[in-house]
Amino acid sequence: MRLYDTLARKKREFSPLRGRQVRMYTCGPSVYAYSHIGNFRTYLFEDVLVRYLRYKGHKVKRVMNITDVEDKAVRAARKEGRTPAQSQAPKIRDFFSTWDDLGMLRPTIVAKASAHVPQMISLIRKMCTRGYCIPDNDGLYFNVRKFRGYGALRRLRSPRYFGKAREDDYSKEGLWDFRLWKKWAPSDGGVKWASPFGAGRPGWHIECSAISMHYLGSPFDIHTGGSDNIFPHHDNEIAQSIAATGKMPANFWLHARHLTVRKKKMSKRTGNVLYAHELMEQGIKPMCLRYYLISERYRSRLDFTMGKMKSALREMGRIRQILKALEEHSRKKGNGKMHPSLAKLLASGFEAAMDDDLHTRLAFRRTFRLLRRAERLLRGGKLSPADARGIIRAIRRIDSVLGVLGQRQINEACIS
Ligand SMILES: [Zn+2]
Repeated sequence: MRLYDTLARKKREFSPLRGRQVRMYTCGPSVYAYSHIGNFRTYLFEDVLVRYLRYKGHKVKRVMNITDVEDKAVRAARKEGRTPAQSQAPKIRDFFSTWDDLGMLRPTIVAKASAHVPQMISLIRKMCTRGYCIPDNDGLYFNVRKFRGYGALRRLRSPRYFGKAREDDYSKEGLWDFRLWKKWAPSDGGVKWASPFGAGRPGWHIECSAISMHYLGSPFDIHTGGSDNIFPHHDNEIAQSIAATGKMPANFWLHARHLTVRKKKMSKRTGNVLYAHELMEQGIKPMCLRYYLISERYRSRLDFTMGKMKSALREMGRIRQILKALEEHSRKKGNGKMHPSLAKLLASGFEAAMDDDLHTRLAFRRTFRLLRRAERLLRGGKLSPADARGIIRAIRRIDSVLGVLGQRQINEACIS
C-alpha cells in the first residue's frame, strides 16, 4: 500500500513502525463554530484510511484532538456572553452527531486540548531547557531561527523573518516566532492555567504535539489533516516536537485537499459554507453525502455544486438498484456454475485502486463497472444465484471500507 507523504512529496510504501499496529493522529475540529461539509471531507478521508488499514489486517489506534482553547474560541465565547465550555457544548454535540450520521468510526481517543494543558506545559519546559523559548511580556515564543530546517513541510523558499506571531492564526509564509504560551489578559476572562511561565493559556500549535506524543509516543505512523494545516500548524508541530525530543513526530504526513464551492475554498472566513444538516433538510441521505464526499480521491479537487452532487447520487441510485436485484437473486435456490471472475475481479480491482494512495474514484468506478456487467449477465439469465452470492460477499467486504453500499442503504433512495 502506497500513501502520498506530504513531507517526502511522493508516494511511499506504507508499513507500520511497530508490528501490525498503526498509530495515527488527526487534527480535530476547532469548536468555536459549527463544522461544515468541507471539514467533513477531511474526516471522511481519514475514516476511509482507518477502515482500509483494518481491511488490510492492521489494528489502528487513532487519536483526535478537539481545539477548545485558542484565540477564536475565547473570542466566540465572549461574544456570546458565555463560558467557552457553554459556547462549545452544542458545537461538539453537532459535530459528533454529523460524524455518526456519516457512518464514521469514532477515534480510539478524543482529547480536548483543555484537558491536556499539563502535558503541554511539560513539553514547553523541555523546549525551554534546550534553548528554544523566547520570553516576552505577553508570553513565551518559539525561536524559529534557532530551529534548523523550519518549514520543511511547506518547503518555504528563502523565507523572511517577520518577528512574533501574537495570534494563534497567521498566514504569512515566512518565519514567525510563534506563541507557545500566552500570559493571561483580562480579555481571557476565566480561561487560564497556572504554569512556570505565569498564569495563562497555551498557544494553538502545542496541543497537537503534546497530545499526539502523550498517547502515541514518537514517532508514530501517520499524521493527517486538511491541506490548510500544512503551514504553519504542522510545520510548527514538527519544530516543537523535534526541539523537545530530537525526534520527528510522525512517519507519514497525509493531507486532504479542500472541498471547493464553485471553485472557491469553502471556509468560515469567506462565508460560502454548507452544513450537513442543511443538505439533509433538502432530502439528501447522510450515506449519500458520504458517497459524494469520498467519490473523488482525497488529494484531488472536488468542487461542490448541487447539480454535480445530484448527478453523482443518481448514479449511486442505479447501482443500488443493481445490488438490490443481485441480493434478491442471491436468495434463490440453486448453485449453478460459478461465473469465474466477477467476485474476484471486484476485490482485486478495488484493492489495486485503494493501494494506490486510496484512489477512491477509481475504486468506485471499477466496482460500478463490474456490477453493471453482473446486471447484464443477470438479465441475460447467465448469472447463477451462487454467482450473485459471491458478488454480494465481495461487495460487503469492499463496503467495510467505503460504507455506502450496505444492506440497509441499498433500499434507500439517495434523494427523497
Ligand atoms: Zn493539530
